[in-house]
Amino acid sequence: MTTKNKKLKIYNTMARSIEELNPIKDSLFRIYSCGPTIYNFAHIGNLRYFIFVDVLRKTLKHFGYKVKHVMNLTDVDDKTIRYSRQNRLPLKEYTKQYEKYFFEDLERLNIEPVEYYPRATETIPEIIKFIEKIIENKHAYVTNGNVYFDISTFKDYGKLANLDLSNLKENAQGRLDDEYDKDDPRDFALWKAYTLEDGDVFWESPWGKGRPGWHIECSVMSSKYLTDMFKDGTINPDKFETIDIHTGAVDLIFPHHTNEIAQTESVTKKPFVKYWIHCEHLFVDGKKMSKSLGNFYTLRDLIEKGYPPRAFRYVCVSSHYKQQLNFTLKTLDAAENTIKRLDNFVFILNVIKERSEDKSIRDELKQKIEEFKDTFDNFLADNLDTPKALATVFDFMSYVNKTKDLSSAEAELSLQTLRYFDSVLSIFDFDIKEDPLPDEIMALILKREEARKNKNWELADSIREQLKEQGIELADTPLGTVWKKVK
Ligand SMILES: [Zn+2]
Repeated sequence: MTTKNKKLKIYNTMARSIEELNPIKDSLFRIYSCGPTIYNFAHIGNLRYFIFVDVLRKTLKHFGYKVKHVMNLTDVDDKTIRYSRQNRLPLKEYTKQYEKYFFEDLERLNIEPVEYYPRATETIPEIIKFIEKIIENKHAYVTNGNVYFDISTFKDYGKLANLDLSNLKENAQGRLDDEYDKDDPRDFALWKAYTLEDGDVFWESPWGKGRPGWHIECSVMSSKYLTDMFKDGTINPDKFETIDIHTGAVDLIFPHHTNEIAQTESVTKKPFVKYWIHCEHLFVDGKKMSKSLGNFYTLRDLIEKGYPPRAFRYVCVSSHYKQQLNFTLKTLDAAENTIKRLDNFVFILNVIKERSEDKSIRDELKQKIEEFKDTFDNFLADNLDTPKALATVFDFMSYVNKTKDLSSAEAELSLQTLRYFDSVLSIFDFDIKEDPLPDEIMALILKREEARKNKNWELADSIREQLKEQGIELADTPLGTVWKKVK
């Protein structure tokens, strides 16, 4: 049975329905994921989104597709400038350290790196060229060194968010940027003129010195890295090709993604993105996370409390990305216990694999495993239903637990099956193995096994006690006896 190019159905925010994902070209998905603003540690709400992106990417690969994936690093904006000044560090030096922490978090959460992580500050020439095109196409205007996108010129503005523009106008003052020199309060900045608060952070541009707005960087980086638009050093809008997938957290639908669409389509005259996929929010103890409520956590906070990062990843994959996730420390405790169960299971399979000589595999087990793999894939294919896919993993584990006298080859096959599941979930640790034991200890363990086989319980128990004194604890599991070192 093969999973080559299995179809994934997923909720497309633009279509407002679940659609079958089909790549525009061949079997390659070109993906753009809005990335972090590197001015502080990522909080666990951000991390939930990055785990979701990882699960999506790994599912596509698991289903036999290729991916070309970009995630931007916002290293210049109001916040990065403000905090770097407060900390009396040059902007680059300030953001570099949080960039490093961001990648550390990803690694601890078993998040696979994507192909490109471009930085905004390294994309300025392309950003300027892009803004020039928007002006040339009469979708933007310049005032006092600022460049604003004129949303009245863009017919479909707000389509992604299903916005009622007349309603938006009334609320616009509070919701959008508060620049005073815009023609319409709903217009947004493509380029911001230099102010004293910017310190030494500015670039020269046709509109004077300044810096890019936040929304423009994603329009530029997605077309730069996923299409040939900037290939020969200039900007060539004809070379733009609709991008397959764009992801973000739900709060980016408006205004960020709404503005990205307006910017890109006003230059390329082609649909920006085929599938818009958004991940829901994370709440802590039923409330929005905030430092003042004391319910604000970074991954480092959880590690300091003694939790393994994998437990947080487990919490995320055990909930559906389209549902709000209510995080509590209690949930994390439960996840930590589950992780231990998973580790034990891997440990036992490893022991059996090494100890048994039996290379036979029962047909029934083989067939059952194919069924579990199919069920697992079908749940993923159904709008990335990781909670149900995870439940299938547990069904598989209890099936193996009930299988008597597992052979070496069957233990190996079971481990391979776990790796199959884990290529998407990334919650297992396959290196769980004890150090090899000294020969005399191993001899005692084998002697006790023999005694148990001969139903000589007295001898078996006395050997167990003897081993315990030497720091070796035995456990008789349905899969046979396993040992571990106790300190
Ligand atoms: Zn973005």
